Amino acid sequence: MNNKQFKAESKRLLDLMINSIYTNKEIFLRELISNSSDAIDKLYYRSLTDKNIKINRKDLKIRIDIDKDARILSISDNGCGMSEEELDKNLGTIAKSGSLAFKEENEKKENIDIIGQFGVGFYSAFMVSDLVKVESKSIDSKEAYCWTSKGVEGYSIEPCNKEDVGTKITLHIKEDTQDEEYSKYLNDYTIQEIIKKYSDYIRYPIEMELETSKKKEGTDEYENIKEIKTINSMTPIWKKDKKKIKEEEYNGFYTDKFYDYEKPLKVIHTAVEGQYKYNALLYIPAHLPYDYYTKDYKMGLQLYASGVLIMDKCEDLLPDYFGFVKGLVDSEDLSLNISREMLQHDRQLKVIAKNLENKIKSELENLLLNDRQKYEEFFKNFGLQLKFGTYNDYGVNKDKLKDLLLFYSSTQKGLVTLKEYVSRMKEDQKTIYYAAGETIDKIDLLPQVELLKDKGYEILYLTDNVDEFVLQVLMNYDEKSFQNACADNLDLDTKEEKEKLKKENEDNKEMFDFMKEVIKDEVQDIRFTHRLKNHPVCLTSEGNISVEMEKVLNSMPTDRQVKAKTILEINEKHDIAKKIKDLYKEDKEKLKKYTKILYSQARLIEGLNIENPTEISNLICEFMSK
Ligand code: ADP
Repeated sequence: MNNKQFKAESKRLLDLMINSIYTNKEIFLRELISNSSDAIDKLYYRSLTDKNIKINRKDLKIRIDIDKDARILSISDNGCGMSEEELDKNLGTIAKSGSLAFKEENEKKENIDIIGQFGVGFYSAFMVSDLVKVESKSIDSKEAYCWTSKGVEGYSIEPCNKEDVGTKITLHIKEDTQDEEYSKYLNDYTIQEIIKKYSDYIRYPIEMELETSKKKEGTDEYENIKEIKTINSMTPIWKKDKKKIKEEEYNGFYTDKFYDYEKPLKVIHTAVEGQYKYNALLYIPAHLPYDYYTKDYKMGLQLYASGVLIMDKCEDLLPDYFGFVKGLVDSEDLSLNISREMLQHDRQLKVIAKNLENKIKSELENLLLNDRQKYEEFFKNFGLQLKFGTYNDYGVNKDKLKDLLLFYSSTQKGLVTLKEYVSRMKEDQKTIYYAAGETIDKIDLLPQVELLKDKGYEILYLTDNVDEFVLQVLMNYDEKSFQNACADNLDLDTKEEKEKLKKENEDNKEMFDFMKEVIKDEVQDIRFTHRLKNHPVCLTSEGNISVEMEKVLNSMPTDRQVKAKTILEINEKHDIAKKIKDLYKEDKEKLKKYTKILYSQARLIEGLNIENPTEISNLICEFMSK
């Protein structure tokens, strides 16, 4: 025997399975049957494009056999089978991402119950057996091979005799222990129950040879005869009556089919009988897939034609901004042999995609309305996607998405919709106020924000890079435009105050010109302001690019740097105002130094770098030492 070692990760998962105290061990059968069903799918899928493979759909099946005396339970299928290399690769290593996530999750929580939550795969066989044999013949090979393992010690692969293409898995069921009765997995009735419970929807017949008692013809005597029976109803879950499907069934199907270890946040199940007939079963995941923002993540829905899988990730069925949705669509009107290229132009597919988009949107709206907490959970995971959807393509989809967006509110101390904001606007309030920054706390401390807060206005705090761009493409909501709290044109003063400030600025024009000369090219303007309450200075922006947007745009990998048009504003009511006016008259050299420090302070408050930190630090110490 050529004894091989399992890969380290597989070994750990295997160890976990063998020593599992998990009570729901029966799920091993669901896992093996689901593998068989996938293998048959694969073969059938191949036969659609490969003329050399001839199959009759009616012959495709899964078979379960029990030998009580030998303590053997076997699962056979006539799917694609595995070659020698595939046996080694697929059964010697963990293939799926979910398993790894599970492992990590499990280490954190020490919660063995999580096993039942998602497909744990082939190794679950070791929860109930002390020896597992996999005999397989691949559709691409003439030889058959047998993989054998007793557990963590390793496995071996040898040639064997097997006539037909497919796989037979033989489990040697463990002896009963004080805590666990394994023999029940050798009981016909129990096995039937387990199949009905977990694998009823499998679309290929799961057959068992069962003994039934029948009347002998023409006599009153009974005799025991053996009959082959199909145990599962074969109705795919998405074709079943919604009312008859339990939540666990939906969730089990999801975790099994879409490799998630957590149950979904929301299930959307529809049957449409319109111009085109189709069934759709969609899921919104409860968390961000770990690879969501990498190029490995492939969005799309499974596409079935009359119950047969014809494409695994059909991108055309979902708009990018709903790319997190998982699930499937099954239609009787689609042709089995339709190619990818043809699908892209398929009118029916376009109509279905449009309907699905509307359906997802209205389900999200319902969630927002009826289960706010759940919606916020959803938004924390996928809100960014909706924001990009609003912003992308110059905002063509903005009207569809704007009511699904949430932003943090200064008064509500939580997430709010634009609609809610507008409904709370004060009578004299003309615009929707917002302020952008790195974190909620930092924004809350911005000098510009304080005055608005003091006057009782609600402000949206924007912390995602894309936020300001989103508001820019939206342009307005309910005819109310958006106003950056840090922009120069914030209009809060009374008429008299405005007049007074205007005069003050005019009177000191020469001084400001002098100061501008000191920080050449850096600011558009320097002026007195009333917007700062107790704070001495701030930096505001003028025009389309705000200081926050400057930061975002310049952090992108292009060589074109943008610059916000900034204005250094100095609080006219602060003591510093008087001080600089005095200095302008008495000590211009000192005013130069003051100007540099004031400008640096304003930049630091905005979260911007200063170019000459050493100089500024020295200046401050110079004044401190006096
Ligand atoms: P998963 O099914 O999630 O990929 P498993 O550990 O259950 O993980 O199986 C590993 C791999 O072994 C499968 O992806 C598949 O390629 C192969 N495999 C398992 N069972 C069969 C089978 N009955 N026929 C063909 N291939 C199989």
